[in-house]
Amino acid sequence: MDKDRELSKLKNSILKFNRNFPGKNLVFSDGNKDAKIMIIGEAPGRTEDKFQKPFVGRAGKLLDSLLESISLDRSKVYITNVVNYRPDKNRKPTPEEINKFKKLLFKHVDIISPKCILLLGATAVRAVINHVGPLKEVRGEWKNVKIINNSYDILTTFHPAFLLRQPKQKKYVLKDLMQLKKI
Ligand code: URA
Repeated sequence: MDKDRELSKLKNSILKFNRNFPGKNLVFSDGNKDAKIMIIGEAPGRTEDKFQKPFVGRAGKLLDSLLESISLDRSKVYITNVVNYRPDKNRKPTPEEINKFKKLLFKHVDIISPKCILLLGATAVRAVINHVGPLKEVRGEWKNVKIINNSYDILTTFHPAFLLRQPKQKKYVLKDLMQLKKI
């Protein structure tokens, strides 16, 4: 598969959703398209919308330092979000938005075909493994999920924005990342 061609086709399909997010920029992805690890967040914030790149604001800086703790950086992972436009006033994406973007996200996963996927926070968990209860019920657990043509090992952890509010929870994320490092 020509990944660059497929990614640019996907980007064009997502651009059509722009009418639902007037004045917002497409925030598609960052990192290495051939990475073994794909990281999926929630939706861009103000800084991400400005720079058109995921996780470049405060939560992104924290994500970088968490990745560094297991010797990873953006050259070794591929990063995207469930929703590729910034919802107004930094609200959470609605279940309807999550459903609309889910198909495109699954196509994104299929193109990248990573070895494993790290889900950050409740929105990604809802979209990818259909879990709608409290995140702590599934945090730190691996699931094997079929997405389009392949099955993926998927790990769930807390979102870095949540860690900014609850720094004591960081130890759990570090523990989860150690599991990721092992495989
Ligand atoms: N939070 C997310 O979920 N994604 C980003 O890109 C930035 C903050």
